[in-house]
Amino acid sequence: MLPVAPDRPSPALRRAQRAWTLLHADSSRSIALAEQALAKAGEDALAQAWARLVLGYNRLNLATPAEALSALEPLRADFERLGDRAGALLLEAGIARAWWRQGRLHEAHHHLLHLRDEGLHRLRHEQRSVLLNAIAGTHSVLGDSEQAFAYMASALRDARPRHAPGFEVVLHCNLANELMQLGDSEAALVQLDEGLERCRRLSNPRVLASLLINRIVVLTDLGRAHEALADVDAVRAIPADEQGRGCNVSCFEILALAALRAGRIALGRELVDAAEAAHHEPIADEMHEIAQARALLAAAEGDVEGGRALMAPLRARLLDDAGDDGLSLRVRSGGLQLLSELDERAGRPDAALAVLRVWQRVQAQRAATASRARTQAALLQTELMRLHRQLGEQQARRRETERARAELQAINEQLSRQVREIERLQVRLREQAARDPLTGLFNRRHLADALPAMLALARREGQPLAVAIIDLDHFKGVNDRHGHAAGDEVLTAFARLLLDESRASDVVCRWGGEEFCLLLPCTGAVAAAHRLERLLLRWRAQVFGPDGPPLADLSFTAGVCDCTDPGADGEALLQAADQALLAGKRAGRAQVRCVQD
Ligand code: GH3
Ligand code: MG
Ligand code: MG
Repeated sequence: MLPVAPDRPSPALRRAQRAWTLLHADSSRSIALAEQALAKAGEDALAQAWARLVLGYNRLNLATPAEALSALEPLRADFERLGDRAGALLLEAGIARAWWRQGRLHEAHHHLLHLRDEGLHRLRHEQRSVLLNAIAGTHSVLGDSEQAFAYMASALRDARPRHAPGFEVVLHCNLANELMQLGDSEAALVQLDEGLERCRRLSNPRVLASLLINRIVVLTDLGRAHEALADVDAVRAIPADEQGRGCNVSCFEILALAALRAGRIALGRELVDAAEAAHHEPIADEMHEIAQARALLAAAEGDVEGGRALMAPLRARLLDDAGDDGLSLRVRSGGLQLLSELDERAGRPDAALAVLRVWQRVQAQRAATASRARTQAALLQTELMRLHRQLGEQQARRRETERARAELQAINEQLSRQVREIERLQVRLREQAARDPLTGLFNRRHLADALPAMLALARREGQPLAVAIIDLDHFKGVNDRHGHAAGDEVLTAFARLLLDESRASDVVCRWGGEEFCLLLPCTGAVAAAHRLERLLLRWRAQVFGPDGPPLADLSFTAGVCDCTDPGADGEALLQAADQALLAGKRAGRAQVRCVQD
């Protein structure tokens, strides 16, 4: 036998399964996913079969039963060949639903019952719910509300809205429908309002329309048809095609009855015409309600006898308690009420009374079923509540997690903004602490940090390190003759020249005032002295002050040493260089003095 499913579902199969779970939450998305799965399936027969099953189920909801059957029936051979019993069971449940819509009610019911035992054994979760809900549906149409409630309760227990959302809304709708059959319109209304509230979060116009239509029925039954007019408009705004509420149940007759009961005769007439023009399955409720709407319209237009004549073909069936054509107690009760009204208005009180007696019996039958079904109904409502709680908690948890994540993200962003700002400030502070503001050169503090490190590195690598101290000659005179600002300019120009003459690895500092210090790695004292002599030549060639008195023949004196003496630390080197400098000053300035000289 072929495996039921491969160990790991293919992407196409996964997509088809996702399409299945979206059947009730978002029909368009479900169809789109199934089509994508089909396009991707290639040789994957299992993915193809599931994608087609989903498309068939969507047709069941949105198209005629004949169209659904033409999509579903060919799949029998596929699921058989693949040995996929879950797929086969769901397929048969779908086929039975199509038969039911075609009026083959008993056939559908027996087929579904026949699937039940294997279904309970093989199907799980929402797939089992789908089968159980279908069984509940045929029980309901056959007037067995007790069984319908029991199956719906089981269907609910298996429904997994987290996995396949939207099914709980379908169950609200079905529960309301059942309560309506039993004449408990108030309870039905509660279910419908709850269902509508939840349905607005889905994208399933078909289920939305079903809920609205049921609400119209309930309000009309309660004698509050005028309150249903907004719902009538809402339903009419949803197109009766596959993109909207589906074309298999147009329900214009239900809208017509509400409009006519609310006294909106023109709207009623328009809707009765639409009901007659629409496609119809041979479903007893639908046929009866169209005739009732037509009769009510005639009476509303003043032709009571015409109305009675239109009801005449239904009279026998309405008065017969033993019919089993699927005419619901609700529609039968509505029909009997209309019959008695028309008889009374036609001046036939005896006939009206006879009809009312039957109506009373039907109402008593509804009440008896209702009391028997009450336990199941209560059970069902409890299950629904449990489901909602689960859903509510789950949504609350999700919202909580999302909020926490958003908060965390905001905090993180703020933190990283702060960290970036702090880093920027630190860089600036470090720079400020290490730099001389006038010349932009490193300052004495930086030199104090850099010198020991560079000295250690030079010693480890066996390389020389030259230290030079430069003092501008007669700088005080520059200030005195040209002003302090000119003095500043000279200092900045000298700094630029120093940088220009230095290598990337050199450290160039302003030692203080008009004194500078250079650290020259991999350079001995003699080589450093040569470089400083070149620098002195360039400095002497500088002329400042195009605006004021010319400032020329600038010079400096420098003292240079290196780290050849293994006992000398940074401080000793600086002192040695300074001593050489002083010697240079004493010897007449404008020169470079080397410690080795
Ligand atoms: P010597 O050749 O002996 O070095 O003579 P000198 O005039 O250069 O030395 P002295 O130490 O007498 O004077 C240094 C002058 O440098 C005194 C001070 O006003 C000036 N000076 C120190 N820092 C600055 C500064 O930032 N800007 C200006 N314009 N002058 C400064
Ligand atoms: Mg000085
Ligand atoms: Mg000086």
